[in-house]
Amino acid sequence: MALRAGGRWARPGSALRGRCSGPRRAGDAPRHRHLREALRKIIDKEINPFVDKWEEEGQFPAHKVFKILGQAGFLGVDKPTEYGGMGLDFSYNIAVAEELGNVRCGGIPMAIGVQAGMATPALTRFGSHELKKQFLVPTIAGDFVACLGISEDGAGSDVANIKTTAVRKGDEYVINGGKMWITSGSQADWMCLLANTSKGPPHQNKSLICLPMNLPGIHVAKKIDKLGMRSSDTAQIFFEDVRVPCKNLIGEEGKGFTYQMLQFQEERLWGVATALTPMETIIQETIDYTGQRKVFGQPVLHNQTVHFRLAELATEVELLRSLLHRAVALYVEGNDVTKFASMAKLKAGRLTREVTDSCLQFWGGMGFTNEVLVSRFYRDLRLMSIGGGTDETMLSIICKYMDILPRK
Ligand SMILES: Cc1cc2nc3c(=O)[nH]c(=O)nc-3n(C[C@H](O)[C@H](O)[C@H](O)COP(=O)(O)OP(=O)(O)OC[C@H]3O[C@@H](n4cnc5c(N)ncnc54)[C@H](O)[C@@H]3O)c2cc1C
Repeated sequence: MALRAGGRWARPGSALRGRCSGPRRAGDAPRHRHLREALRKIIDKEINPFVDKWEEEGQFPAHKVFKILGQAGFLGVDKPTEYGGMGLDFSYNIAVAEELGNVRCGGIPMAIGVQAGMATPALTRFGSHELKKQFLVPTIAGDFVACLGISEDGAGSDVANIKTTAVRKGDEYVINGGKMWITSGSQADWMCLLANTSKGPPHQNKSLICLPMNLPGIHVAKKIDKLGMRSSDTAQIFFEDVRVPCKNLIGEEGKGFTYQMLQFQEERLWGVATALTPMETIIQETIDYTGQRKVFGQPVLHNQTVHFRLAELATEVELLRSLLHRAVALYVEGNDVTKFASMAKLKAGRLTREVTDSCLQFWGGMGFTNEVLVSRFYRDLRLMSIGGGTDETMLSIICKYMDILPRK
């Protein structure tokens, strides 16, 4: 591994040595800089040159890309060293997410997010040593592709209403039902599955289970054709009498809903972090384009309505970054940041739409083509308002924490 564990970032002679040569970005903490610099090299060499091709093909090769990232340590930045992680705190994971925003599409950072920060937090925190050796170690190394199976055809926002069951028979669970919208679903080696393991109350009858995806009875029904995030495969999956050992249960039976709500905190913070850099890139590319594109004898950028708007949007991005970093700092200290994570996710959903919409307009007809990044992010970042909980779900959570929801 190029990156070292236990708070030391680089072995002598590794790719991480040397100073960051790029300009200092806002929010780019000095302690994160070497990590980001090393990741940027991988993005520029191993990912960005192929993004257009993978977007066109509708899928990126997850095993190949994850192996490269895994070998360099980027899939286990905040995971324990005992399981191949770097043992750094969660703020380093967020620095990685911000840097991944330099990938010239949204689909690949999203799939990396599922691998490194959405399918694995509960396993890391509550899973048995054996389970971690079997699933976490190869996921951190990039040998396994992981997916997260929460949403269903009839239950997205309403997670408590999922119908998939895992019924105990001897020392096995027998799983029936199906999952919808599963990122990396058609390439995954295992799924962190949320299923009903009893008929009890909906918040106490669910469990998280590590489900190998090569078991008999698992059918990948279709790859979903989507508006954006085109290089990330999104699958619908059915389970028919799938048998999995009970030892694949993560933590305690019946605690799955609670574990998943905790897992969502990291997912949401990660999602916000990956959206910051694309917004800045789009604003900058719009400045560059409108600065040279002349209309009625002057650059488009020279109209006050244009440069004021761009300045306004850049300010909003910085505000979002501040909220994110505040939430992350509190999280690293061990606080429950559900409210702040939800606020940041809500704001990111709104702001990504505003930034991409305003910028696309300034490109005129060019903005409507597939040749410019702004149109790709106009589609991809739309998911910020949907995936991992919609804007309305975020508002409901914030209201709950403000104690202003009507009493039932
Ligand atoms: C590209 C993509 C990738 C995804 N990846 C994954 C994945 O890897 N794993 C996974 O489990 N899921 C995944 N999802 C699913 C995602 O989390 C859900 O789409 C999301 O939670 C919303 O659920 P839903 O689509 O069922 O919408 P619904 O729950 O049907 O919501 C419909 C509408 O109702 C609104 N609504 C909800 N509650 C309220 C309320 N209280 N008041 C007013 N309006 C409300 C919603 O905001 C929305 O506008 C993915 C989705 C997409 C599109």
